[in-house]
Amino acid sequence: MSDSYAIEPQKINSLPIAGSAQRFPVARIFCVGQNYAEHSREMGHNPDVEPPFFFMKPHTAIVSDGRSFPYPSISTNVHHEVEFIVAIGTGGANIPEAEALTHVFGYAVGLDMTRRDLQGIAKKTGRPWELGKAFDNAAPCGAVVPVAQAGHPTTGSITLSVNGEMRQNGDLADMIWKVPGTIAYLSTLFELRPGDLIFTGTPAGVGAIQRGDHLTGAIAGLGEVHTDVV
Ligand code: MN
Repeated sequence: MSDSYAIEPQKINSLPIAGSAQRFPVARIFCVGQNYAEHSREMGHNPDVEPPFFFMKPHTAIVSDGRSFPYPSISTNVHHEVEFIVAIGTGGANIPEAEALTHVFGYAVGLDMTRRDLQGIAKKTGRPWELGKAFDNAAPCGAVVPVAQAGHPTTGSITLSVNGEMRQNGDLADMIWKVPGTIAYLSTLFELRPGDLIFTGTPAGVGAIQRGDHLTGAIAGLGEVHTDVV
């Protein structure tokens, strides 16, 4: 007998899968902070002495490719961060690094949209980052490209353009923590679940967006994500 709910349950958020009519149901969204040395430095940190760290966004923050990004309330300094996304297909805890890639369903390109002003206040006051990172619509994502098609990319360009002008231009090879190590470490902190997404950090060049901007994130071999700021 199925459960009877007192209120309408929330629908499962999902992403399209490249080359398939099926969709990828999203469980949780983990994000790695400062995973490219040059971006870490532009945020005032020393990547050589500080280990990576994680924060989260709710799955309800997903914005499908092509849908608009409503400029969020309260903030007056919202930044783009283009990121390489790992889509977990099979879960697990304490996953050995050597087995980590077998847990990957596919990869995608996405945007870790950030209320930089509110994140800055949180950093200064030692408060959590949710107001800066986990707001509604904070995670525009492209289609998930399955491993069979994408392989396991370790190099390739990762770019973000605003109105056709390049703002971020990095390479996956410059990630400090690679995908296997990130999965292995994260799985010691949380039991990973099928449907979890891991945003693996952004290259240098983050900056403010305005209403009316068109954002294009792209990763070689994984396609693009587009959104209009409204
Ligand atoms: Mn980020």
